[in-house]
Amino acid sequence: TQTIGATLAATAERFPDSVALIDASVDRQWTYREFRRDVRALAAGLLRLGVNPGDRVALWSPNRFEWVLTQFAAAEIGAVLVVINPSYRRHELAYVLGQSGTTVVLAAERFRDSEYAVMLDDVRDQLSELRQVVLFESDGFATLLSEPTADELAAVDEIASRLDADDAINIQYTSGTTGSPKGVTLSHTNIGNNGFLVGELVNYTEADRICLPVPFYHCFGMVMGNLAAISHGSAMVIPGPAFDPATALAAVEKYGCTSLYGVPTMFIAELALLDTGASYDLSTLRTGIMAGSPCPEAVMRRVIDEMNMAEVSICYGMTETSPVSTQTRTDDELDLRVGTVGRVGPHLEIKIVDPVTREVLPRGETGEFCTRGYSVMQGYWNEPEKTADAIDADGWMRTGDLGVMGDDGYARITGRIKDMVIRGGENIYPREIEEFLYTHPDIVDAQVIGVPDEKYGEELMAWVRVRDGAAPLDADAVREFATGHISRHKIPRYVHVVEEFPMTVTGKVRKVEMREKSIEFLG
Ligand code: ATP
Ligand code: MG
Repeated sequence: TQTIGATLAATAERFPDSVALIDASVDRQWTYREFRRDVRALAAGLLRLGVNPGDRVALWSPNRFEWVLTQFAAAEIGAVLVVINPSYRRHELAYVLGQSGTTVVLAAERFRDSEYAVMLDDVRDQLSELRQVVLFESDGFATLLSEPTADELAAVDEIASRLDADDAINIQYTSGTTGSPKGVTLSHTNIGNNGFLVGELVNYTEADRICLPVPFYHCFGMVMGNLAAISHGSAMVIPGPAFDPATALAAVEKYGCTSLYGVPTMFIAELALLDTGASYDLSTLRTGIMAGSPCPEAVMRRVIDEMNMAEVSICYGMTETSPVSTQTRTDDELDLRVGTVGRVGPHLEIKIVDPVTREVLPRGETGEFCTRGYSVMQGYWNEPEKTADAIDADGWMRTGDLGVMGDDGYARITGRIKDMVIRGGENIYPREIEEFLYTHPDIVDAQVIGVPDEKYGEELMAWVRVRDGAAPLDADAVREFATGHISRHKIPRYVHVVEEFPMTVTGKVRKVEMREKSIEFLG
């Protein structure tokens, strides 16, 4: 285990002329030599601002090169980087800045219709610890990046040499898919090792270029993307500030990317774009990662066949575990690679327990996944009670996810405990029904939830998105399609055709919101 600064230094030493970073929005690129030089300059700039190891430095911006420079500059001097969701508004912003005790914020001036500079100004009065806001577009930021003196660099080195890999360097507020965000606190050991091992399992080398349309403020981008890249000498490619299918595929073509990341909905959007006849040269692609929410088998197969990603891997995990706990290997048998979340990651343990009795279950039975090992977070920032609820005395992290471990060691996730539907006393996992609905030729995306019902306690409702140009689809047609193929009690009572699902910025479907809306329109 080493600090992230030490990992970057070693990579820059080994591969000084390999590409480290490409930002397609400004069409700029950095070799590892140049990248580390700029990271150290920015680290020196942060020291000039008065940032000390352990201070919280927040970063609020969509994906752009300044984000990545700031990520590594903060790590270099042991500042705790607080990464902020680009979709936040004043209330959420003030909450995370205050809760984390942030002293310095680096931010984009604006993104689309969000005026970050204005919102930061508006909340400043509420934040007694906040000393400084530096906008990327300002002269202030240019000054931070300006050439450091030899003394300043010596100060950076001196601090770097004193850091401990087990110090906290990152607070990531959870996606808020299921409730209010919690500040997951992570160390160099947690995320540095996870990034390295994830990259190892997709065989990254200095020849790889990873296209990253996933948000950096989330571990998918910053750990599985950026930290995997810097520990193997691969290139981070930023296709644009936020996800867009055409921009992502264009960046793969233009920069010859070998790897492409996405949550399932991103790949679904890219496949839909290819279906319209749009064509991109994807011949350089080899691998990639799909993760973040259930990865439908049909989508995985299409990604392999139609996007030239023969070695695509599925990862499962959560922010609290740095994030990845299980991963498919590139040489796994095809059915396992598309139908499971793979095997337990190196140096980690998983057990599956009965969610009520907490007893360990035999293989093959569905229960709650618990993870233990180097990747488990230090805790939720300043929330010892929530931390104690999440991690037990023996170090096991409760995931809140339900799944099964097969005899062969391959894991399957059946859904979140909170999403399980209990209809007439019968436990139903929406995931299973969603997988079935994907086999309908006109359905491109399906999400199943439980809605309150007088007779059964809960009833199933499916929201589906239909292929462009398909004939209208109604509830009866979907129910007829399911009859005889899945058990009667698993056939959704209600089917609702929609244009889109309520989403988090990480691209996850917000089932909580789907349920609220469904209850509204069911009256
Ligand atoms: P919050 O905890 O704030 O409600 P969240 O759980 O969505 O939000 P993350 O840490 O980003 O925040 O996501 C982790 C969760 O995503 C896991 O607990 C799991 O439910 C889901 N998940 C991640 N990868 C997969 C996967 N490959 N298959 C199925 N589910 C996955
Ligand atoms: Mg969670």
